[in-house]
Amino acid sequence: MYNHASSTGSAFPAVEFDAAIIGKLSQSGPRYTSYPTADRFQSEFGYGQFLEAVAGLRMRRSTRPLSLYIHIPFCDTVCYYCGCNKIVTKDHSKAATYLDYLKQEIDMQGRLFAGMGKLEQLHFGGGTPTYLSDRQMGDLMAHLHASFEFAPDQLGEYSIEIDPRTVSVERVHSLRKQGFNRISLGVQDFDPDVQKAVNRIQPEAETRAVIDAARDAGFRSISIDLIYGLPKQTMTSMEQTLDKVIAANPDRIALYNYAHLPHLFKPQRRIHEEDLPTPAVKLDLLALCIRRLCAAGYVYIGMDHFAKPDDELAVAQRQGRLQRNFQGYSTRAESELISCGVSAISAVGATYSQNEKTLEGYYEKLDEGRLPVVRGIKLENDDLLRRILIQKLMCNFELSIASIEQSFPIRFTEYFATELQKLKAFEEDGLLIVEPDWITVTPKGRLLIRNICMVFDRYLSQPRLGEAQPLRYSKTI
Ligand code: SF4
Repeated sequence: MYNHASSTGSAFPAVEFDAAIIGKLSQSGPRYTSYPTADRFQSEFGYGQFLEAVAGLRMRRSTRPLSLYIHIPFCDTVCYYCGCNKIVTKDHSKAATYLDYLKQEIDMQGRLFAGMGKLEQLHFGGGTPTYLSDRQMGDLMAHLHASFEFAPDQLGEYSIEIDPRTVSVERVHSLRKQGFNRISLGVQDFDPDVQKAVNRIQPEAETRAVIDAARDAGFRSISIDLIYGLPKQTMTSMEQTLDKVIAANPDRIALYNYAHLPHLFKPQRRIHEEDLPTPAVKLDLLALCIRRLCAAGYVYIGMDHFAKPDDELAVAQRQGRLQRNFQGYSTRAESELISCGVSAISAVGATYSQNEKTLEGYYEKLDEGRLPVVRGIKLENDDLLRRILIQKLMCNFELSIASIEQSFPIRFTEYFATELQKLKAFEEDGLLIVEPDWITVTPKGRLLIRNICMVFDRYLSQPRLGEAQPLRYSKTI
C-alpha cells in the first residue's frame, strides 16, 4: 500500500528526475489552469450567459468568497520570449483611457456581486501592472475597495506581479500601503548575455533592491519567476543565476519552461534558434534547478512551482486546500473568480467566460453598457467531474477514488475504463500506482503530471476543425 500524503499527513511530495522517461514522454499539452481549457470556449457564450451564472449564485444564496483578477495589458518594451496577451507602447496616455473603462467594468461587477461573499483574493497581472503610475494604482485600488468588500489584510491574499525595471524602492513601499501583501517579480535569468538575447536587461542590483524593499515594507510573500530553456543559457550560467536567486531568499519560485512557439507568438521570432539550448541541455538545466532548489530547502509544489515549507502555498498543499487557477497554484479553493480587463477569464459558478481580446472590442462593449464577455463555456457534469479529478492530481498528486464516487453518481472503474487502460502504460513506467481506492503519482511521475492529466481530458480526442493540435500547446516538460 502506497503512503498517501494526505492520509499520513506526511511531508511534501518529493520529485524525482528521470531524463529517459521525460525524453520518451515529452509532448505538447495543456497547462490545465482551467478544464476545459480556454481553446474550448465557445462564442455562443456571452454577457447573457454570464448574467445567468451570477443569477444562479444569487438564487443559491452563495456566500463563497470572491477572488478578483485585474489585467493591465501594457508593457514599455517587449521581451522576446513573451507569449502573453500584451500591448507594447511607450504612450502612457493609453493607460489612462484603459483605466476609465476598467473602472466601469469593476463598477458593473461590483454591483452584480454585491451582498455575496467577501473579496479574499486579488491578483494584478499583465502585461505589466506597474506600468500604471503610483497615483493611477492608488486611485484604482480605492475604486476596488469602493466596489468590493475586502477581507482584512491578515486574511486576504492581495498580490501583484511587478517588473523590477519599472519600480523604485519608494514605489514598493507605496504598493504595500495601497493594500498589496504579496509580490511576484519577473527575473527570468540574472545572466547579462541571456538578458540581452531576450531583450530584458535587468541588473541584479536593481532586482535585489526591490526584493529588500519588499521585505522592509512587510510583504508577506515574495515570489520570483525564472525561465529555463532561454537563449544563451548554459549549465554554468544557470548555476550562477541559481546562486543569486537562492541568496535573495524568496518565499516562492516559479520555474517556467520556455516554450518556443514562434508561429504563435511574434516576439519569439526575434530569438535566434541557434542560441537555444538543445533539448538534452534543457533537461539538464531543469534537473539542475530542481536539485539546487530542493537542496536550498524549497519544496516542490507541482508543475513549475517551489516554495519554502512555511509559505502559505506549501501549507495549503499539506492541508489539501491547494487549487489551480489562471494564476497557477492558489490557496483559495472554492471561490468565485471575477476577472476584469481585456482578455481576462472569469470562473463563476459552473462557467468560464472570457472578455474581448482587443482594446477596441473591449471599449465598444462597455460603451454599449454591457460587460465585455465574448466567449465562454457552461460546464456539463462530465466537465465538472473531470475538472475535479485533474485539479486533485495537479495539486495533491493523488486521487481518492472513493471521494469521487461519493461526489458523483458514477462507478469509477466503469466510467473511466478507457482512461484506466491508458494509465497502465504510465504504471509500467513507474509514474503512478493504481489501487482499488487510490491513484497515486510517484515522485518520478510528478514532473509528468500534465501527461497524466491529459488521459482524463476528453476534449483532446476531439481536435477542433482546422487546428493542428500539437501546435496549440507548449511542451509538457
Ligand atoms: S514578458 Fe511580461 S514584461 Fe515582457 S513583454 Fe511579456 S508581458 Fe510584457
